[in-house]
Amino acid sequence: MSWKMETKILHAGEPEPRVQGAVCMPVFQSTMYELEGEAGYHDIRYIRLNNTPNHVVLHRKLAALENSEAALVTASGMAAISTSLMSVLKSGDHFLAQNGLYGGTHTFVTETLPEYGISVDFLDAADAGSWKQRLRPNTRAIYVEAMTNPLLHVADHKAVTAFAREHDLVSLIDSTFASPVNFRPIEIGYDLSIHSCTKYLNGHSDIVAGAVMGRTERIRKITHLLNHLGGSLDPHACFLLHRGMKTLSVRMKQHNESALKIAQFLETHPAVSRVNYPGLESHPHHSRARELFHGCGGVISWELKSGLPAAEQLIGKLKIPIHTVSLGGVETLITRPAATSHSGLTAEERRRFGIPEGLVRLSVGIESTDDLIEDLRQAL
Ligand code: PLP
Repeated sequence: MSWKMETKILHAGEPEPRVQGAVCMPVFQSTMYELEGEAGYHDIRYIRLNNTPNHVVLHRKLAALENSEAALVTASGMAAISTSLMSVLKSGDHFLAQNGLYGGTHTFVTETLPEYGISVDFLDAADAGSWKQRLRPNTRAIYVEAMTNPLLHVADHKAVTAFAREHDLVSLIDSTFASPVNFRPIEIGYDLSIHSCTKYLNGHSDIVAGAVMGRTERIRKITHLLNHLGGSLDPHACFLLHRGMKTLSVRMKQHNESALKIAQFLETHPAVSRVNYPGLESHPHHSRARELFHGCGGVISWELKSGLPAAEQLIGKLKIPIHTVSLGGVETLITRPAATSHSGLTAEERRRFGIPEGLVRLSVGIESTDDLIEDLRQAL
């Protein structure tokens, strides 16, 4: 039977039979398990080797959600990103990455990987015509994000996977901003789909976790590397992620609908000069987002006509959104990327990437949309 997303989230990958009949997967807080004649080191059931019952259930469920063969949970989104890239690339290799990556990833690929002999070139992921000239004989992979932060640019994802196939590159995508409800990259040909589960997948802003999905052989290789690097997710965090994921589809529905209404409200407000949200017809990648995504998620960014002072005043006056970093949780969060996520860039780099000092980013939670709009109205 082929289940729809809402059903898979709850029932795919669950133990059969249920453990002692328990409706909820219990936490297996045991470091090791009795030996049963395992074939090799990676099969020994030990907490760092990512194979306790709590890991296995999540692997089956996450693979089912993205229609991939296999999945692996990791100790953070960055553990999933760094381990996946290191499993695909070796010293002497070159790869292509999208402009405007998440800051932690940007630093990892520009500062850490070069120390291991791996080089990177950046490309405009929305302009497929410019990619070929970046290829080198040693180019092995292409790395993009579902939507960029904080401008919500949407890469030409179908062109990325076609380009990767044509030039024999491994294609990797950080799909955190979309979640498996809004986008399933494996279905359009990505080799590896990565998530920071700290965001939408868990949804409750109370754990750090990551995941990567793909073909069995690739996930096995990443798992063996993670087993050595040690970035395994603790079983109790597995339990919390499993619990948080149960409401993923209803949360995403609310994030999608509420963010669209708020973006539409902001777009017509006289104090606002520009709104970035792919669900808006005014967004440069709106038609691509409509074709690829089942919704555009909860993140919106905008500029105010009066710039930085107005942005700081707005954040100070809002009563519901919490002034902090991160995204994808049930509470609405607000931040100014130039002061937080993108503070590691110089002012000149921020200008080049189109991130003005006064840009405001909202991660819309699941509160009443009317209350959020009223709060924004009084603060604006
Ligand atoms: N990818 C994206 C798009 C993110 O926004 C983040 C964190 O903000 C990460 C990856 C890193 O995830 P984690 O904090 O779980 O390591």
